[in-house]
Amino acid sequence: MKKHNFSAGPCILPEEVLQKASEAIINFNNDNLSLIEISHRSKPFVQVIEKARSLALELLGLENKGYQALFLQGGASFQFLMTAYNLLNKKAAYLNTGTWSSNAIKEAKLFGDLVEVATSKDKNFNYIPKNYTVPTDVDYFHCTSNNTIYGTQIKSFPSVSVPMICDMSSDIFSRQLDFSQFDLIYAGAQKNMGPAGATLVVVKEDILGKVERTIPSMLNYQLHIAKESMFNTPPVFSVYVSMLTLEWLKDLGGIKFIEKVNEQKSALLYHEIDRNPLFKGVVEKEDRSHMNATFTLTDASLTEKFDTLWKEANINGLHGHRSAGGYRASMYNALPLYSVQALVDVMQELERKA
Ligand SMILES: *Cc1c(COP(=O)(O)O)cnc(C)c1O
Repeated sequence: MKKHNFSAGPCILPEEVLQKASEAIINFNNDNLSLIEISHRSKPFVQVIEKARSLALELLGLENKGYQALFLQGGASFQFLMTAYNLLNKKAAYLNTGTWSSNAIKEAKLFGDLVEVATSKDKNFNYIPKNYTVPTDVDYFHCTSNNTIYGTQIKSFPSVSVPMICDMSSDIFSRQLDFSQFDLIYAGAQKNMGPAGATLVVVKEDILGKVERTIPSMLNYQLHIAKESMFNTPPVFSVYVSMLTLEWLKDLGGIKFIEKVNEQKSALLYHEIDRNPLFKGVVEKEDRSHMNATFTLTDASLTEKFDTLWKEANINGLHGHRSAGGYRASMYNALPLYSVQALVDVMQELERKA
């Protein structure tokens, strides 16, 4: 039986997507060739990447609004510098909500002055700062929508007069937002979309072309757009699986549908964390992530018992990030509600046996 997979990334993908992907590895399109041994310029693959790009825009509600979707390489970490390279002339503003924002800030500092508008570092990133001001004389404002490691999520984004860039690696396609409030969104595929190796970048074209520096080809969004995301060989397998996942999501009813499921899943788990005296949530309630729930045992001496119980219950990937400790249950789009129920059952079993 497939394990209940709470892994934070790479992470669970829909069963039917894995099935189709494995078939395409052997025989893609009934053409007696593997997906990964044909030219990326062949018609069947060009259709795949075109479909993936258009589905991404469609699901985000950004078709015909001046946005382009690209599938690039180098992970979200590469976007930390690529965004700055393309958009940072003199000064940019960043909201620091955790490890990933801090890493983005570190890279961007190589290209200009940074204003950290607020940080939650004082409390080990267990909340989302609010009521900060974004200066108007900056080239852009950057934030991280979901703090994968600590388990917080921005529920309401500031309205700013400068372009807004968002790292949505761990919650893209999970909840309804007005995505047109962002001018650039990026997300590594391996959290909610596909295997590692591709990074989705959705960018509003009119913010590009405004920096003074010369941009190397591989770093240049405008060039990738002109080449329709095929400037060089794209990560074909990762793009294909991402396309399958986006099709799966569209067939289910899109973000509107999955958001409801995600709310049910996180409500079920957080309710148990709050009810069960053996567990404690790590972050401020109002800022809790619907994707990554972080919690600890109130009595550390139960660690071994709990770890044995959830492993016996066929659960995978519950340990917290190596920098945060405790437990983290990642409930991405493809995780079924019954997996969360399985975890809740184990938490209740611990309460009975402790
Ligand atoms: C995982 C993650 C990253 C890093 O992604 P890579 O693809 O490994 O570079 C960046 N930001 C967020 C929010 C993440 O969850």
